[in-house]
Parts: sequence; structure tokens; C-alpha cells
Amino acid sequence: MTLDLTPLAGERVVLRENHPLEGRTTLRIGGPARVFAEVEDTSALAALLRFAAERGLPVLPLGKGSNILVPDAGFPGVAFVLAGDFSKVVIDGNVVHAGGGASLMSLAVLTKNAGLKGLENLSGIPSSVGGAIRINAGAYGGEIFDVLREIELVSRTGDVSRVDAKSIRWGYRWTELMERTDIVTAGVLELESRPKEEVDARFREVTEKRRNALPKKPNAGSIFKNPEGRYAGKLLEACGLKGRQVGAAQISEVHANVIVNLGGATAADVRALMAEMQAAVRERFGVELVPEVEVL
Ligand SMILES: Cc1cc2nc3c(=O)[nH]c(=O)nc-3n(C[C@H](O)[C@H](O)[C@H](O)COP(=O)(O)OP(=O)(O)OC[C@H]3O[C@@H](n4cnc5c(N)ncnc54)[C@H](O)[C@@H]3O)c2cc1C
Repeated sequence: MTLDLTPLAGERVVLRENHPLEGRTTLRIGGPARVFAEVEDTSALAALLRFAAERGLPVLPLGKGSNILVPDAGFPGVAFVLAGDFSKVVIDGNVVHAGGGASLMSLAVLTKNAGLKGLENLSGIPSSVGGAIRINAGAYGGEIFDVLREIELVSRTGDVSRVDAKSIRWGYRWTELMERTDIVTAGVLELESRPKEEVDARFREVTEKRRNALPKKPNAGSIFKNPEGRYAGKLLEACGLKGRQVGAAQISEVHANVIVNLGGATAADVRALMAEMQAAVRERFGVELVPEVEVL
């Protein structure tokens, strides 16, 4: 049954029905969303959330799809990305205002070019700013909450609020925002002015490390979080799982904590592989691996 989308006419939103989500995820997996929207401002976001709530449709905010496993059956509600105004970045001295839909990779390049230190360790993470804030993305000893000062949130009823980042509890690949339903629509970062060559040197170092650490085939980065004091990749490698395949999903030969899509893999393939990985590590080390990737 098609939906009457006319209540959203006049809002800055691009709408598509039965839109495949595989192209919206870095794993290249996922069936269609009943409605897929690119929302361009706060008014459109509030209207879209109201539209979904009034029709009892579930809502899925998507960033760059780099940490999510969308089911093969798709999503039976309204999936949306933040675009337009939400993609803007404004650099004011050493303070950076970034929309939740902006690319973290582009933000790291922009700030590096402005001689601002603080995002080099996160360069190369294919995330949105909103997605990175929600999970406290991090790498090589740095996390986004290290430099985050303020967060803009939109509640499911469309109310906008700005909160001090210090008021939000956060930890390793976790923030309390993951337990809430708010949409992260912007962040204010405070970086440090440094000589450009210095920022550039660290940026290049991180880029080089990343190039060698991850496979080139479609993937969602680390599948499991590192258990306290250990590396999930090392535990999985010790279980001899590199190269193990279910359907067209394979545990990467490059990194045992990464699953790659060899072409045509399904979400069911990935879930089956994840269950095998957890069982192997549980049996051999008595450790319960916790997914980092969001399994819808
Ligand atoms: C090659 C590769 C390398 C990676 N390296 C790293 C790394 O070094 N460090 C690291 O931390 N992560 C890494 N990741 C994982 C991933 O990039 C991060 O978890 C990222 O922050 C996810 O952001 P996203 O915008 O892609 O979110 P998505 O994958 O689109 O969504 C993830 C979850 O966040 C929710 N969400 C997304 N945007 C919003 C929003 N604006 N408001 C509220 N909820 C939202 C979604 O509903 C979903 O539940 C890597 C991934 C890949 C593919």
C-alpha cells in the first residue's frame, strides 16, 4: 500500500518510497525502506517525525551507514538522512559548528587545512558527524568526545535542544545517546590552533596506518567491541577464523574483526558469521563479544 505523502509537501525534504538501503550502507546490504527521506532543515525533520508518529511508522535515522546491518527484508517505516542545512560546517577561529549530516572525513580534512588539531586520529572514519557523536567514535587514542563541547538534539516530537557535552555520559564506543531516541543534528567542537605542518604530519600518519589496517571490500569496520584489556581481532584470529565464509560474507583475511561483503552477501549471512565468531571466542576464551555494529 502506498502512503499519502502530501502532508509533507512544502517542507525541505526529498522523499522516496520503497527505496533500497543497500546503497546507503558501507556493507552494501539491506532491503528497502518503506519511505526514505533526505531532510534538509529542522522544520522538515519535525514534520517527518510527526508524519511517522501519526501513522505508527517506526523511524530510522541513518548517517553514512558505516556501522549498521540492515535486514534483507528492509525497514518497514521511515528511514532518513540529514542533508541540506544539517550538512553545513562553519569554522570560527578554533571553534567548529558541524551539522549532524556532515561527513566526519570531510570535517577532518577541512579542520586540518585550517591548521586545527583534534580530529587527525578520526580522519578516515566514514561516519557522519551525528553518528560519530552518538557512539563516541574514536581511533588511535582519540575520541570525538575529547573535543566536543555542545550537542544539538531533536526529540521524536521535533523539539530542538542544545546540551553541554559534559552533561552526556560517554565511554568506549558508547554514549547515553545510544539509549535515547533523540536525533543528533549538530555538534560544536573546540580544536587547537597549531602549525599546519604539525597537523598534516599526524593526519598523514593516521591515513597510512588505516590504509594497511582495513580491507578494501565493503565492510562496516569492527564488528565487535574490544573486550576490556583485549583486542577482539586478536581473539578471533587466534580462533583461526580469518577467511571463514558464510554465503558471500567473509571474515576478512586482513582483519579478523571485520566482515567483508564479497558481492551479494545478505544480512542473514553476516548474522550467521557473527554468531559463529561469538561462539568460537566464548568457547576458547570464555569471553562474550559484544557487537559494535548496530544490528537492526
Ligand atoms: C572502513 C570503516 C572504518 C571504521 N573505523 C572506525 C574507527 O576507527 N572508529 C570508530 O569508532 N568507528 C569506526 N567505524 C565504524 C563507524 O564508522 C562509526 O561507528 C560511525 O560513527 C557510524 O556513523 P554513521 O554515520 O555511519 O552511522 P550509521 O551507521 O548510519 O548508524 C549507526 C547507528 O547510529 C544511528 N544514527 C546515525 N546517525 C544518527 C543521528 N544523527 N542521530 C541519532 N542516531 C543516529 C543509526 O540509527 C544507527 O543506530 C568504521 C567503519 C568503517 C566502514
